[in-house]
Amino acid sequence: MNILQIPAFSDNYFWILYENNNKSAVVVDPGDHIPVINALQDNNLILSDILITHHHNDHIGGISELKKCFPNVNIYGPSDDRIPANIFLEDQQAVKLNSLNEEFKVIDVKGHTNSHIAYYFDKKLFCGDTLFSCGCGRLFEGSYTDMHKALTKIRKLPKETMIYCAHEYTLDNIGFAKLIDPENVYLLKREEEVKNILKNGGYSIPSLLENELQINPFLRFDNPDIINAVQKHFNIKINNEVEVFKYTRDWKDNEYD
Ligand SMILES: [Zn+2]
Repeated sequence: MNILQIPAFSDNYFWILYENNNKSAVVVDPGDHIPVINALQDNNLILSDILITHHHNDHIGGISELKKCFPNVNIYGPSDDRIPANIFLEDQQAVKLNSLNEEFKVIDVKGHTNSHIAYYFDKKLFCGDTLFSCGCGRLFEGSYTDMHKALTKIRKLPKETMIYCAHEYTLDNIGFAKLIDPENVYLLKREEEVKNILKNGGYSIPSLLENELQINPFLRFDNPDIINAVQKHFNIKINNEVEVFKYTRDWKDNEYD
């Protein structure tokens, strides 16, 4: 499976997936039609399928124009009136598209929104705004328990899994992670790496799950350093992982950006 990374707006990524032996392509979360159509033309591809993770406009805004150009396109998404899908997907559902050799599995990851799903292909996770490199999505609709559950599912994927999230937020996220986890050598190493990548016009996404487990405070709710930092910062006694996650999220939301 080939994957094209399409930067859009100020910091979004859309993803186009296709096989060498097949002119049909899939796009994940097309928030705008123009960069998608340009990339399809550059690569001689026809859009056959759209995969949507959640209803925010920077993930679905290109659908209506893409449908005009490709009237037969199938649109997959979670069951939600706010998403103009014609095929609704459920947690754990396995789907094989004609355009791709690998089937994908649907993972319910609600938290950022109430109907957010992720698409898992063989060791590749398209997770929208659930997990970012060194961060996670804000809780616009779901509860702390929902997001903790979603992130726990992601933690259990093979550690070689590549995380194809929807935003280039990594360097800013590292800034917060350094407040809560200042001694983490993996984090400092990743900061240098990301600075170099961005300086040279590259992208810090996709990222490797194994590295996220080392650096991402929102995946490290069972780590003693994170637990201690949260307890000290808020002057409280933490009782469980959801609380660690909750206070980490609150810390960033209220005191960082
Ligand atoms: Zn979103």
